[in-house]
Amino acid sequence: MTSTDSRIAAVRLSGVHRRYGDLAALDGVDLTVPAGTFTAIMGPSGSGKSTLLQCAAGLDRPTSGSVEIGGTELSGLSERRLTLLRRERIGFVFQSFNLVPSLSAAQNVALPLRLAGRRPARTEVRGALARVGLADRARHRPAELSGGQQQRVALARALITRPAVLFGDEPTGALDTVTSRQVLGMLRQLVDEEGQTTVMVTHDPVAASYADRVVFLVDGRVADELRAPEAEGVAERMAALETAGAGAVRGADTVRGAGAVPGPGSAVVEVAGR
Ligand code: ADP
Repeated sequence: MTSTDSRIAAVRLSGVHRRYGDLAALDGVDLTVPAGTFTAIMGPSGSGKSTLLQCAAGLDRPTSGSVEIGGTELSGLSERRLTLLRRERIGFVFQSFNLVPSLSAAQNVALPLRLAGRRPARTEVRGALARVGLADRARHRPAELSGGQQQRVALARALITRPAVLFGDEPTGALDTVTSRQVLGMLRQLVDEEGQTTVMVTHDPVAASYADRVVFLVDGRVADELRAPEAEGVAERMAALETAGAGAVRGADTVRGAGAVPGPGSAVVEVAGR
């Protein structure tokens, strides 16, 4: 038991299934993300990472199971309430930045507040840009900014509502190594200095090493996790998962006993030895 286990859960998934016809994209995921922590989600292609992120962020609804954000159970919410919750409590950054090209950096950052019917104060927007080191780029359009700067604008936009959770779907996937490290350093700093709960899907073991823990998915299930990850250990674990494949996970699960229901955060099946 580490000190993070006793913190309030920012996100909690219990028995989450997401099916597409016969295909189980998520096959019973239990995952607790303590507030103020940085979690990376990894796994082979098709293992359910994007689906997990979408369900955890209230962008998609599970077929069954429970998702809570900041103690609010999402399954009972109407579309309208869910939209409001997403707007107020969730920040999202994507690989492709998704900035509006015709708007300046400041206007992009102000967008979530405008959508919520608020007229953002200039200082609020400037403050959000300053947090990501771009106070002097407020009037620039996305095309006038580098990739790293665009992603920092997207980050400022995601954070302006002070969300309970920041989700990133490969947020550094389109950036070069140096810029990628800058953005990751910024994410780490937001967690350390502002307690910003962050959940990020990534393919990159170095990116994952900035997190407090890495959760590995295989075939829509939590197969393993690594705390205080280092890039080398993450890469080894990924390689083991990719070569072991689904059979090893299912096999290990059987050894542990079918029907055992692991508690939140403890759904860990060792696939490969350390
Ligand atoms: P990852 O992000 O790990 O690559 P995904 O969450 O995108 O995995 O996908 C998990 C599985 O669900 C894959 O087999 C994928 O083909 C399937 N899947 C994802 N989205 C859909 C969809 N909208 N319709 C049908 N199948 C889907």
